[in-house]
Amino acid sequence: MTEKLIGAIEAGGTKFICATGTCSGKLLDQVRIPTSSPHETMTAVISYFRESAQKLAGFGIASFGPINLNRDSPKYGYITSTPKLAWRDFDLVGTIARAFRLPIEFDTDVNAAAMAEARWGSARECRTLIYVTVGTGIGGGAVIDGSPLHGLLHPEMGHIRVPHDWSEDPFPGICPYHGDCLEGLASGPAIQARWGVPASTLPPDHAAFQLEAEYLARACVNWICTLSPQKLILGGGVMQPHIFPALRHRTVALLNNYVDKPELIEHIGEYIIPPGLGTQAGVLGALALAARTSTSDAID
Ligand code: ZN
Repeated sequence: MTEKLIGAIEAGGTKFICATGTCSGKLLDQVRIPTSSPHETMTAVISYFRESAQKLAGFGIASFGPINLNRDSPKYGYITSTPKLAWRDFDLVGTIARAFRLPIEFDTDVNAAAMAEARWGSARECRTLIYVTVGTGIGGGAVIDGSPLHGLLHPEMGHIRVPHDWSEDPFPGICPYHGDCLEGLASGPAIQARWGVPASTLPPDHAAFQLEAEYLARACVNWICTLSPQKLILGGGVMQPHIFPALRHRTVALLNNYVDKPELIEHIGEYIIPPGLGTQAGVLGALALAARTSTSDAID
């Protein structure tokens, strides 16, 4: 007798991570598939799961977005208005459903990562938390009272407006929709466009990171005041350890003791934190989505 397994798919703009794992969060095997055309990528994804399909109870899919999460919509499970044109209006859930005829849980990559951090990561005692990734884009997901936050669509926390002092930072931003939204000012490509080199090549004491911490702190204040998370987790390639001290300091300063909680004053170091699951937060997020609804029944 073995525990039922879950097929986990972290669908990203540059790669798909596919894995099998258990409902208790143990990954047994995983593979990385480059994101090319939908046909090529999905053929490789389906091929990977063919071998283990007999053991699977269902799938969890954590996807880049925007995606359609409305189960009443004929386009539920689609990737919708992504700038990756080949994937625009692509039926991601339907493609897996037609191949395997198994239950599928579907959400944004960041909502899923928030679920995984709440279940197995650095927010285990929390019912309400935010997970933000700062990398090629900026995305945020939230778990509210134990469930991922949906609504009209799903949160788009990277596209909030933050105060932009043009005299201090004349950079216009790179978001094709908004120019100087948070993603336009503070994503990895924004840092590269502003300074002319990738963020990873800049020394930790470079002015780029002070500015980065400032924009992220302005965003953190908005997220804290709006959703009242019990933890605020920031991951992604830009979030190097040396950014956190300045980010915490500026967040506390901007809140100015208004929210009277020790987490937002002396315990800020345990409140604004990196993911406990590191770079596995996404694929474990896919696992966490399906683990919510799958039982831990054993199968032969
Ligand atoms: Zn934007």
